Amino acid sequence: MMKYQGIYDNSPIFIQNFMATMYGYKIKKERFGEYYYEHLDFLNSFNNFSKKKQEEQQFEEVMKLIEYASKNSRFYRELYKEVNITEFKNINDLTKLPIVTKEMVRQNIEDIITIPKGKAIKSNTGGTTGKSLTVYYKKEDNQRRMATLDYFKAIHGFMNIKMKRATFNGKHIIPPNQKQKKFWRYNVAIKQMIYSSFYISEENIPYYIESLNKYKPESIDGFISSIYDIASYIERNNIKLKFIPKAIFPTSETVTQEHRDVIERVFNSKIRDQYASSEGAPFVWECESGKLHYDISTGIIENIENSNEILITSFTTYGTPLIRYKIGDSMTFEDNNTSCDCGLKTPLIESIQGRAVDFLYSTKGAKIYLGNVSNIFKNIPNAIAKAQLIQSSLTNMVVRMVVDNNFKEEYKSMLIDEIKHKFGNDMRIEIEIVEEIPREKSGKYKLIVNNVVTR
Ligand SMILES: [Zn+2]
Repeated sequence: MMKYQGIYDNSPIFIQNFMATMYGYKIKKERFGEYYYEHLDFLNSFNNFSKKKQEEQQFEEVMKLIEYASKNSRFYRELYKEVNITEFKNINDLTKLPIVTKEMVRQNIEDIITIPKGKAIKSNTGGTTGKSLTVYYKKEDNQRRMATLDYFKAIHGFMNIKMKRATFNGKHIIPPNQKQKKFWRYNVAIKQMIYSSFYISEENIPYYIESLNKYKPESIDGFISSIYDIASYIERNNIKLKFIPKAIFPTSETVTQEHRDVIERVFNSKIRDQYASSEGAPFVWECESGKLHYDISTGIIENIENSNEILITSFTTYGTPLIRYKIGDSMTFEDNNTSCDCGLKTPLIESIQGRAVDFLYSTKGAKIYLGNVSNIFKNIPNAIAKAQLIQSSLTNMVVRMVVDNNFKEEYKSMLIDEIKHKFGNDMRIEIEIVEEIPREKSGKYKLIVNNVVTR
């Protein structure tokens, strides 16, 4: 829509809804075409395969990808020069292939890509680490990913395109000069109300809630921080909701226990989380029993020897093949023979450890991950609308907070105690009460900002 942003910004809201829908139809064609439906069928049969057959299928898929990459990607042809791929017998033989790092991908991207850029679907990965990366998908890569995502949602009772969906994201749908308190646009093409994350503030949230109550979405997806802000407001102000979504599907941001508790309570519905980075990593998703399944129809996730760090190989990266790619995340697997109550036979993941960008340091230099940081506010009575912890050095931290009328001065010392307890007694903490905490350019909201310079 970027191309027409100028026209869009200066049009009345009903024209903007129309334009959002037109764009929606374009995307719909791109995402929900023949490969999408074909892959949905495949997933249906895949999940009825025996465990052994699923694993055979996975091996077959990975060989297809490796052969394709060594034929069509100059980078992989060179990288696999010394390896005899035809001798591979099973998935364990993958360890004979060299590991691919982010730096290698960044430097060699032109040689890795197998398709003309003009026809490809571009995806930018988060610049949170200061290093961003663009990967290119083939149309079928994209459609197969969409099918997997929708299959996951269907398991939780939500049929995409057929049912009404509310999405909170960072798309620029609201012109900067708009006076009306309408922070959403409707995309008829896929029955999606898009809510802008940029205008969510104590002042505007009532308008969002009014719209949600009128629209009555059957699922809510998108930025968890936005959904959480709305849930927290509803709870603090005792507002009645007139709908129950089938499930809530967060994307892009890490879900903390606090998010889960508040959102599930307020919406009377379950959060169903999923892991798949924008680089195109294989999917890990939550089942009906609340367990994380590693979806082996989407790729391979392996631990680097003697560590929890993972390497990913993704079956939907034919445009930019990622094979044994060191993505920077860590996971702990459950024993491969553990089965799940939900009936799915795919392996279980015990936990996904925070991404590199999701931690602060204790004064001694130990990493304290987001989930743990968010606990700090657990014992403070409901008076904080929003908070952000900014660490500038090992021993200096600023806590910014947006508070409401229930806030008492003594909460500050409670909070400082909590923080020192977690980060070390020598942490110098400054508390700032602010009107608003701005979002990132992407529309995401950061609870923690790690500005500590390390080597
Ligand atoms: Zn399960």
